[in-house]
Amino acid sequence: MSNGVLFQYFEWNLPDDGQLWNQLARDAKHLAEIGVTSVWIAPAYKGGGTQDVGYGVYDLYDFGEFDQKGTVRTKYGTRAELEAAVKALHDNGIQIILDTVLNHRMNGDDTERFPAQPVAADDRMKNIGEPREIESYTAFAFPGRGDKYSPFKWHWQHFSGVDYDKLTGSNDIFRIVGPGKGWSQGVDHENGNYDFLMGNDVDVNNPEVADELLSWGHWALDTFGFDGFRMDAVKHIDNVFTRRFLEEMSKQRKGELYAVSEYWSEKPKLLEDFIDATGGMTDLFDVPLHFNFHEAGECGEKYDMRKLLDNSLVACDPLHAVTFVDNHDSQPGGSLASNVQDWFKPLAYALILLMKEGYPVIFYGDYYSVTHTEPADDSDDPEQEDETVREASPHRKIIDMLLECRRKYAYGDETRLFDHPATVGLVRHGDGEHPGSGLVLLMSNGDVGTKDVCLGEEHAGEVWREFTGSIDDRVTLDENGKGTFGVCGRNVAVWIREDAVSQEE
Ligand code: CA
Repeated sequence: MSNGVLFQYFEWNLPDDGQLWNQLARDAKHLAEIGVTSVWIAPAYKGGGTQDVGYGVYDLYDFGEFDQKGTVRTKYGTRAELEAAVKALHDNGIQIILDTVLNHRMNGDDTERFPAQPVAADDRMKNIGEPREIESYTAFAFPGRGDKYSPFKWHWQHFSGVDYDKLTGSNDIFRIVGPGKGWSQGVDHENGNYDFLMGNDVDVNNPEVADELLSWGHWALDTFGFDGFRMDAVKHIDNVFTRRFLEEMSKQRKGELYAVSEYWSEKPKLLEDFIDATGGMTDLFDVPLHFNFHEAGECGEKYDMRKLLDNSLVACDPLHAVTFVDNHDSQPGGSLASNVQDWFKPLAYALILLMKEGYPVIFYGDYYSVTHTEPADDSDDPEQEDETVREASPHRKIIDMLLECRRKYAYGDETRLFDHPATVGLVRHGDGEHPGSGLVLLMSNGDVGTKDVCLGEEHAGEVWREFTGSIDDRVTLDENGKGTFGVCGRNVAVWIREDAVSQEE
């Protein structure tokens, strides 16, 4: 697909009003118009209640259909409303990608007692003391759903670790002990072995568990017609299982399955190792590039813009890179809290939306709004509660313009211009299929910048103008097709052919 765009249709603090699926259905036409080709939705199955963003998974089969955990609907709506949203997206030619959390379960129905070995939080291969009997919420009976869709009930044998012992009140990490039990091998090596992330860690090496998860995947694809999966927390799941899951799902869709996985690491080597281990079945989010954006925003003009793509996945393995600026974890107040500064976001979005490589993501919080909590005005007054504020994003206007540039002009070969510490950019040379296409993108993190760019003799005499409206002057190319293009300080400029605009209008 040409110039695809993935839209992450949620942020962490959306209101708990059950209205997101309805909103998404109404929004499908608009999303198609701005060039969105795929929508990534939050984990859409039942967690701990209506406030659960979706990552506190209780029942993978309950998409807002059963009265469980005190509610039928999820935070985002009911199953019927989700199905209507899927249909609206498909009717508008947009794919839908489900956030898929296989690593852990939370909000168990009952406790069970079983043998476990406490381990060190910073080295899960290191035992602390002797194994002992503990009691934890590992029984999942699904009383509201019963055996519908699956008779499988979860018990302690289906997990590899927990972080709670009711007998002692301890929140240590416990490795469950028993025949064939142990941490998975194909996981990240941080903390000795990073199989355990949170809650009840699903033991994907247990054949009953593997069968149940595969069976769920087939059911979800069949039932909802999802076009792909966004695999959550894959650095904590045996990569042999992730590969098997994606291969089987892909077979069901006759190879037409899209997958992107979250491997949260700044180290491109680990990302590449994961891509190898999973046989190239899945793209990965370009986490190193996100951290470059974060650092560039924090450092201001001291950041050397020539380094902006260094160590990124899009630089070393462009075919598997899903480029993004921020997400529900990195947003302000989020669990990873590495948000990109507002002033840098137009630069970051310009780069991911206009460069040739990478599959770019637009984050709901950057396009629509983010919700956050403001401390009470008068902190001395204990009666005054913190205030929840939902603010329209200041970035929508520039993102809309960049999306328009992506749809109309971001075609053809690319020349990167990462040759100056403050002003960098790239050229898209256009192609024959898109008349008038081609652009010059410049970004500056310091003062006003200029760059001499030679576009070739075939462009001699052309007049170019700046698309976002930051510069009024035109640039006329000389007899060699060379011109001097500018950019305002701490800003982006997208230059296009003036006659290309009038053709469009
Ligand atoms: Ca795990």
